[in-house]
Amino acid sequence: MSGIKRILVDMDGIIVDLYDRLVSIYNDLETHADGPRLSRDNVKAWKLEHFAPNLKVARRTMKHLDDPDFWLSLKPMSMMTLTALETWNECMDVHLVTSPWGGRSADAKIAWARQHLPFLKRDQITICSRKEIVHGDLLIDDKPATLRRYAEAWPVARLATIQYPYHCQGDSSDPVHRVPSHVQLFPSYSSPHRAWALLHEWVMENFQS
Ligand SMILES: [Mg+2]
Repeated sequence: MSGIKRILVDMDGIIVDLYDRLVSIYNDLETHADGPRLSRDNVKAWKLEHFAPNLKVARRTMKHLDDPDFWLSLKPMSMMTLTALETWNECMDVHLVTSPWGGRSADAKIAWARQHLPFLKRDQITICSRKEIVHGDLLIDDKPATLRRYAEAWPVARLATIQYPYHCQGDSSDPVHRVPSHVQLFPSYSSPHRAWALLHEWVMENFQS
């Protein structure tokens, strides 16, 4: 495998559209006629509970994550996502690296990947909470804390993410949502097809053997 670049790709928020489903469940549960609805384009914080106006409904929404069917029901971010991953897999060492949610999501995440990404072998799917224990040339992940930890563990590794409204770089006073300054941000979550097209072009330019 020498010379072949290893690309680590997060699932939730990068390959699968987690917030689209969360926002839809939240809006269905928000039964007050005048209760403010959420838009998938306005994800202001990494945690739903931190930007949804109704905390009680947000917590009820998050309980759905304990149901394996929730994970199976998620949509790919874009058709471009699947096309890009299949193309990368022909010339790079691609691995999905995803954190489990609770005790019942891991099997569902693997089943989702086998259904939507059948070209990946089982040993290309890693379920682990601490992604910095896996070494790659590139990590694509949306969670600021994960990007920061990875940068500390592997200073030479490249980092990228689809840009969410809450991401901030530089001398930000927001320690929760700050991402390292060398993270490549691909705009944006509100245009996932475009974000994945730009990401695909950048990965092929920089990591193809
Ligand atoms: Mg994620």
